Amino acid sequence: MPHIVILAGDGIGPEIMEQALAVLARVNQRFELGLTWEHHLLGGCAIDAAGVPLPPATLAAAKAADAILLGAVGGPRWESIERSLRPERGLLAIRAELGLFANLRPALLYPQLAAASTLKPEVVSGLDLLIVRELTGGIYFGQPRGVRILDNGEREGYNTDVYRETEIQRIARVAFDLARLRNRRVLSVDKANVLEVTELWKEVVTEVAKDYPDVQLSHMYVDNAAMQLVRAPKQFDVIVTGNLFGDILSDEAAMLTGSIGMLPSASLDAQGKGMYEPCHGSAPDIAGKDVANPLATILSAAMMLRYTFHQEAAAQAIEHAVGKVLDQGWRTADILSAGTQRVGTREMGAAVVAALE
Ligand code: NAD
Repeated sequence: MPHIVILAGDGIGPEIMEQALAVLARVNQRFELGLTWEHHLLGGCAIDAAGVPLPPATLAAAKAADAILLGAVGGPRWESIERSLRPERGLLAIRAELGLFANLRPALLYPQLAAASTLKPEVVSGLDLLIVRELTGGIYFGQPRGVRILDNGEREGYNTDVYRETEIQRIARVAFDLARLRNRRVLSVDKANVLEVTELWKEVVTEVAKDYPDVQLSHMYVDNAAMQLVRAPKQFDVIVTGNLFGDILSDEAAMLTGSIGMLPSASLDAQGKGMYEPCHGSAPDIAGKDVANPLATILSAAMMLRYTFHQEAAAQAIEHAVGKVLDQGWRTADILSAGTQRVGTREMGAAVVAALE
């Protein structure tokens, strides 16, 4: 029986998760998916209940589950405690423990929300790209790293950008496999003209591409990719890149859509098991007020159905329902614009459930 661990977390986490689960329950029934789920603690709520941000029971359940659906963690209440015990440490620890090396960040702009972007509507309307970022290697983890004192007393900071062939191969395969579910185009982003590590990256991705003759591969330097993302973002389908470039480009791509409350994400391991979560945080400023946008979490549930459970029809049903609700003019405060109708978190969730019928 496919089983999910639910980590609602802190701040707006429980509110948005409640709506995502209402949507998931309806889809579960309609498509006879047989999904089951159980709740566990992560982040600040886990610190309050168990003294640590990632309790052993949560980790054990997450390891045993097929997928994890996460709300958000953190908040001002836990900011003054010792760094190693903060809520966000729970998040980093669970990602590392589960070996979630592939981070998928779609940037999809519903045409109804084109006005929310800082770019011209004709440039971004209908945008639909997917960034595949390597999440457990590269310069964020490479050794040696540190700050040292030179002989002349000057301080010098240094990090190491390092990728093994096998690390590049597995993330490239994720990108090519995902491209097959989309428009069969992969762009690999590197800085091969300057950095040897990305020269190898480019070579290995090109080798892997031979196993995917039906997918078109192209390459771009990261500086050009950053520029093209704001110039003509609709040219992209799947973008695959390393940890550092992916961090920056995925935030840039996210901002193209203008609304953080709309963006889901996934982090996958080698077997396709994944943790799915909205890109936003716990929004303590609006927690408990029934104003948070639950759509990013609802769309994270759709990603989970697609990528871990291979239930494309069910995933699309959720995405279409979200589109329908936007067509009907319903908006939470963060995506409100002239001529639309403001609704709260609960009403938005209920509207999506209704739109599934
Ligand atoms: P945030 O994403 O929580 O909030 C930034 C702004 O966006 C706020 O004004 C917030 O009200 C708004 N916002 C966010 N999500 C929204 C939604 N669904 N609907 C409507 N508005 C929304 O980022 P922050 O304020 O920098 O961080 C707050 C807390 O969240 C911190 O403790 C931070 O560490 C944590 N955080 C957690 C995650 C995570 O769990 N993955 C990610 C980022 C930040």
